[in-house]
Amino acid sequence: MSHEDFPTENPAVVTCGLPYANGDLHIGHLRTYVGGDIYSRALKRLGQQTAFVCGSDMHGTPVAVNAAQEGVTPEEFALRHHEQYEETFPKFDVEFDNYGHTDDATNTETTQEIVRTLEAEGYVYEKEIPVAYDPDADQWLPDRFVEGTCPYCGEHARGDECDEGCGRHLEPGEIEDPVSTITGNSAEYRNREHKFFAVSDLQEYLGEFIDRLEGTSNAQNQPREWIEGDLQDWCITRDMEWGVDYPGEEDLVLYVWVDAPIEYISSTKQYTERVGPDVFDWETAWREDGDIVHIIGRDIIQHHTVFWPAMLHASGYVEPRAVMASGFITLEGKGFSTSRNRAVWADEYLEEGFRPDLLRYYLATNGGFQQDVDFSWARFRERVNNELVGTVGNFAYRSLLFAAREFGGTPDVDLSESVRERIETAMAEFEAGVNEYSVREVGDAAVRLAQFGNEYIQRNEPWKLDDDDPEKAQVIRDCVQIAKAVAVLFEPVTPEAAENLWDDLNEDGDVHAVGIDAALDAPAAAFDEPTELFEKIPEERVEELNEKLEARVDAATEDGEAEADADDEADAGTGAGDGDEPTEEAVADVEPIADERISFEDFQDLDIRVGEIVAAEGVEGADKLAKLTVDIGVEERQIVAGIKQLHDLDSLPGTKIVVVANLEKAELFGVESNGMLLAAGDQADLLTTHGDAVPGTKVQ
Ligand SMILES: [Zn+2]
Repeated sequence: MSHEDFPTENPAVVTCGLPYANGDLHIGHLRTYVGGDIYSRALKRLGQQTAFVCGSDMHGTPVAVNAAQEGVTPEEFALRHHEQYEETFPKFDVEFDNYGHTDDATNTETTQEIVRTLEAEGYVYEKEIPVAYDPDADQWLPDRFVEGTCPYCGEHARGDECDEGCGRHLEPGEIEDPVSTITGNSAEYRNREHKFFAVSDLQEYLGEFIDRLEGTSNAQNQPREWIEGDLQDWCITRDMEWGVDYPGEEDLVLYVWVDAPIEYISSTKQYTERVGPDVFDWETAWREDGDIVHIIGRDIIQHHTVFWPAMLHASGYVEPRAVMASGFITLEGKGFSTSRNRAVWADEYLEEGFRPDLLRYYLATNGGFQQDVDFSWARFRERVNNELVGTVGNFAYRSLLFAAREFGGTPDVDLSESVRERIETAMAEFEAGVNEYSVREVGDAAVRLAQFGNEYIQRNEPWKLDDDDPEKAQVIRDCVQIAKAVAVLFEPVTPEAAENLWDDLNEDGDVHAVGIDAALDAPAAAFDEPTELFEKIPEERVEELNEKLEARVDAATEDGEAEADADDEADAGTGAGDGDEPTEEAVADVEPIADERISFEDFQDLDIRVGEIVAAEGVEGADKLAKLTVDIGVEERQIVAGIKQLHDLDSLPGTKIVVVANLEKAELFGVESNGMLLAAGDQADLLTTHGDAVPGTKVQ
């Protein structure tokens, strides 16, 4: 069963993984929220009724542990971070329709109601399990209150997760050699009745669900292994005070992963309470036929594609339509480290005087949503200067300046047919971006249109034409329309610049509220000289920012590593906070540049072409090799490459790559390889093209 394309008649709910109320936000954290905001704005632009909701994740043991260390109550500790997040998101133009938190009355009620329904429907049972207990502190030790050895891989692990080893979720009682994090003493296991959610009863349902699920391919494919394997029931209670009380049980609270995703529903409810069901009805969305889109970090795919849909289905709620899971984010090639102060903090970015638009553009379009993204100040500058200033800003400024000076606004002629068609193409690309769950495509559609506008004005050189030449008025009329369309199509990614461009065009109404068709509505007849939409970043700024970062990392490292891990561990929430601390493997060592130079002629001997992957499958008997069919324009080639374990082969067809076409043929595991694809580093990050180069185009 496939879903109807957006816009649909249904109410849509777009959610972002809840940030865990436990630390400061850095720009890596913002990737999910910016992506969610762009997606929600783009849906609304298409006319889809949409609620964009989120909230802070307040519960769980990391908050309890850190609050105890600070000597404050968990509530006070979590609320402080909640308020900070609530303030920070709007500064980046991430505008939730509702932002709540998991400890408020709405979420407590909704969670307890859902748990009662699960009980009534027979999905909850009791079982006696061993639970770690600290006899000295006279206290049970859930999750982070206990550490020990992972029973699967033998590495040091936390009570609920093997964070340093195999990465498995650990159930209570599984960890070996338990030690209390409260007293540091050995803990003992005592038997205790706990509640379990019978996820395994829903295996058949989940198998069907995953076939229907849309979104990024990592979220569609990864869960199959879990769903088709030996599905474990989840222990959904914990022995602690901080959390949502289990209905009817005095000393048990619900596991944080029960009440956290339910906040998606609760936050939508609060939105309806505020605006009224005529504007948005949470009940239709969540209980009848809503289109629910979850935007998360990829480390919490399992929670959103197995546990959460199981809970929704068993309690009579609508299942997710799509899950978009973002890749990791690195900083100058290495992981963000909150404890070592190796991060660009959200507040710091703004204090440096950068507009939110620039970061939004970078995060949204510097790679596909599920791909890993590296942030560097140098690349940030390059993309701002080349694409935002050089392409979008330059086109808008030169066109509108010329129009204002020569015509006092929009020349009084009709839009030419060819430019109308080009704008319609951009609108179709924007819509396709939404339906393909690609925020990058949403942004690129507008930039490509501005690029076209630049070429159009350059090719027609209206400044060389006589005032009475009708061609002059025509070219400018067309350019003003393109500028207006860019404002409409670029608004989801750069809302502030879109608003400024809208003002420059002297347009009435609110650029944030218009539908996509406004791109083709006639522009205002009169407007004044425009402003510059974006400012160039000088090269010295990059050096200065890099030096600041290095100095801070050095200072933090000197402060000692002892405290280091406390913060990093704390990033254990349900939101993007988890998704952006990459493993060591993601960190590349940069090799020095080779001493020896080659001649230009040597380089020209290489026949390098743009290719497009048509098909990809594993080579039988070879762990690492994949067999690719690649369209290189003149013909299709079979190329064997060592990327089987590094890429999701199903998601590769359609990907543009770069191929050395005149390399000698080779035979690998009995399979002929006719050419070589180019890839960067140990993780074989595939080289691709930024623009529209078609297969067969020579790379030079
Ligand atoms: Zn392990």
